Amino acid sequence: MVDTPVKYCVFEKPGVPLKYKTRSFLPKPGVGETLVKIRLSTICGSDIHTIDGKRKEDTPCILGHEAVGEIVTTNSRHGFKTGDRVTWSIADSCGHCSACTDYQLPEKCDHLFKYGHASISDGTGLNGCYASHIIIRKGTHMVKVPNTISDAVVAPANCALSTMINAVSHIPGVPEKVVVQGGGLLGLYACGLLKEHGISQVYCLEIKKESLALISSFGAIPVDANHPQQAIDQILKQSSGPVDVVIEVAGIKDLIPQGIALLRPGGTYILAGLVHPNSQMEVTAEQIIRKCLTIKGVHNYSPKHLDQAVAFLERNVNRLPFESLVSPPFLLSELDTAVMEAKGGAWGRVSVKPD
Ligand SMILES: [Zn+2]
Ligand SMILES: [Zn+2]
Repeated sequence: MVDTPVKYCVFEKPGVPLKYKTRSFLPKPGVGETLVKIRLSTICGSDIHTIDGKRKEDTPCILGHEAVGEIVTTNSRHGFKTGDRVTWSIADSCGHCSACTDYQLPEKCDHLFKYGHASISDGTGLNGCYASHIIIRKGTHMVKVPNTISDAVVAPANCALSTMINAVSHIPGVPEKVVVQGGGLLGLYACGLLKEHGISQVYCLEIKKESLALISSFGAIPVDANHPQQAIDQILKQSSGPVDVVIEVAGIKDLIPQGIALLRPGGTYILAGLVHPNSQMEVTAEQIIRKCLTIKGVHNYSPKHLDQAVAFLERNVNRLPFESLVSPPFLLSELDTAVMEAKGGAWGRVSVKPD
């Protein structure tokens, strides 16, 4: 084990190519920690934002937070052993602060650590998934992955899918009509989840015409969003009136008035996609008050949502085309090329595997 080299890609700053590096020794996990060999990672939109300079991280760092791996060795982690195939929550939290206990938001822990968002000088440095190995910390929720779920299907579960499980959990009761704004990976997961929840009418707005068939295969009614007013009229006509819930996952602030227009009095608007500074909303307090709307922000997720994400995949892996959302793997040493492919937008996720 001592001679096994570690491979990883370092992000320094926007405009500088990612640096492929090696280390000749594996780190030893501390008490409660687990050394995991990455089997496959996927490139999340937030990584692209960081690489493009739209969001800031402590650098130099190893990016990447969506992945599946295999335990090399674990130090006093109950219930896990060498060889277990696992995924893990994006956040490591302390379990003691107010956010972890009173607010039930461990993803907002006072001592939060997020994989793929930490400097290489923090701990062993192996803090991100664009690497052959990663150290999973003591306060991180780990979940074993059933053999029926492939690496490509499970890799995005610990960010994209778990976040949508969290978003959908804020829907009150079982409404009849829900609109999803955005038919990318998050939107497609939302469609599959909503249909499984028994919601009869799920509409999904998307501008990419080639995505409309995929939306249907995830159980929703696709709506061409290229002409915003036409899209609103189509939904209002087809659903015989306004809808109960709108979920925003497109990350486009101009869609907010459309969402407000589609909601019925007393409806709920769940915002999950606009996690960037260019998100000033065109909505008046009066619109919210007069329609008695609930607006709910969702960022990341709690450990239970990751459990539910893996269970959802297990129930639906033969029913929904998850595999088609993920590209064939690029090699870690070609991460720059993989990032270019991800920017092209042809895939829900572009996958990367260590060389
Ligand atoms: Zn992510
Ligand atoms: Zn905490």
